[in-house]
Amino acid sequence: MNFSQYQIPFNKPHLTGKETSFIEDAVKNGQISGNGKYTKLCQNYFQKQFGFTNCLLTTSCTDALEMAAILLDIKEADEVIMPSFTFVSTANAFVLRGAKIIFADSRKDCPNIDENSIEKLITSKTKAIVVVHYSGVACNMGKIMQLANKYDLYVIEDAAQAIDSYYIGHPKTDKKALGSIGHLATFSFHETKNIISGEGGMLVINDSKFLERAEVIWEKGTNRSDFFRKKVHKYEWVDIGSSFLPSDIIAAFLYAQLGELNDIQQKRKDIWNTYYDNLSEWAKKHKIQLPYIPKYATNNAHLFYLVVENQDQRQKILTYLKNLGILAVFHYQSLHKSKFYHDFHGSRELPECDRYSSSLIRLPLFYDLTNNELQYIIESLLMFEK
Ligand SMILES: *Cc1c(COP(=O)(O)O)cnc(C)c1O
Repeated sequence: MNFSQYQIPFNKPHLTGKETSFIEDAVKNGQISGNGKYTKLCQNYFQKQFGFTNCLLTTSCTDALEMAAILLDIKEADEVIMPSFTFVSTANAFVLRGAKIIFADSRKDCPNIDENSIEKLITSKTKAIVVVHYSGVACNMGKIMQLANKYDLYVIEDAAQAIDSYYIGHPKTDKKALGSIGHLATFSFHETKNIISGEGGMLVINDSKFLERAEVIWEKGTNRSDFFRKKVHKYEWVDIGSSFLPSDIIAAFLYAQLGELNDIQQKRKDIWNTYYDNLSEWAKKHKIQLPYIPKYATNNAHLFYLVVENQDQRQKILTYLKNLGILAVFHYQSLHKSKFYHDFHGSRELPECDRYSSSLIRLPLFYDLTNNELQYIIESLLMFEK
């Protein structure tokens, strides 16, 4: 029963107000298929702002991951190491090419891949490590790139949640945008992320040897990009590929969001900090784990989460909040225990991943969350007794 004056969703897509006028402009320009004016504006913005060597907008992060798997020439029996605590697309993209996924456990202090668990999973068949910057907080990229160099592996950053977040190396001035470190990286602009276009994504190509082929795969396996550059007289089928590029209508929407990036990020950080400051003491008292930002990472306030003691306590809190008109949600279910993959994975245990799967709660965090609503959520949690 819910008699609350509030009905607070988990997420509400934020509009900057310029989306429809940019789309109108794209429509008036008469070129609304892929790789148009707004696609180029977005790609240039990302390259300049975040130091990406190159990037291509895609229809989703899922598609960008599929492009990455094709680019790495992943084949039957290749092994790809990645965390089990991630979205299904991270794994699916490589399984589609025949890879065996070697799932790694998460860290104790945050859900990112435990960098110290990777080396013992590497075999002669290992081709790549896929890291996921969970909640926009950097994985230990220094250590992971070092391992990749030692064993000659590729690194792909699933940076779906990590726009405008950074890894801080040694010395501290060595600050790199997430997505600019691995050989390839992928972003999502799904409506649940910080910057959105409904559905949408991006492939970042930092190792320039992949650039030419990436454009071909992006354009359905043709050399259409060279044709536009007048490097060839006609374009033709030169490789495998698919329709990975979004319409310029999507890019126009995205470009409107990019213009407000700083404002959006500031607002999200304010909400995140208010949660953190007000819940710290309560969390300690109830043995609840709050988000941890390692020294080498920044916070882009993509998610605010609690890790409670167990599944029962989680259900109690979710129901309690729901009855107060607050929609909090859990997150990924361990992929190594999924219906589709558990037989392939076998019995190797990943206890931290399972703990996040059964005990993590995400609280509402979106630009248009009002201060009253935020205070109401915090007060509701503070009144929760187990
Ligand atoms: C959202 C998300 C994806 C999928 O992004 P889409 O754009 O919806 O395909 C993949 N990986 C992670 C870690 C995500 O958070």
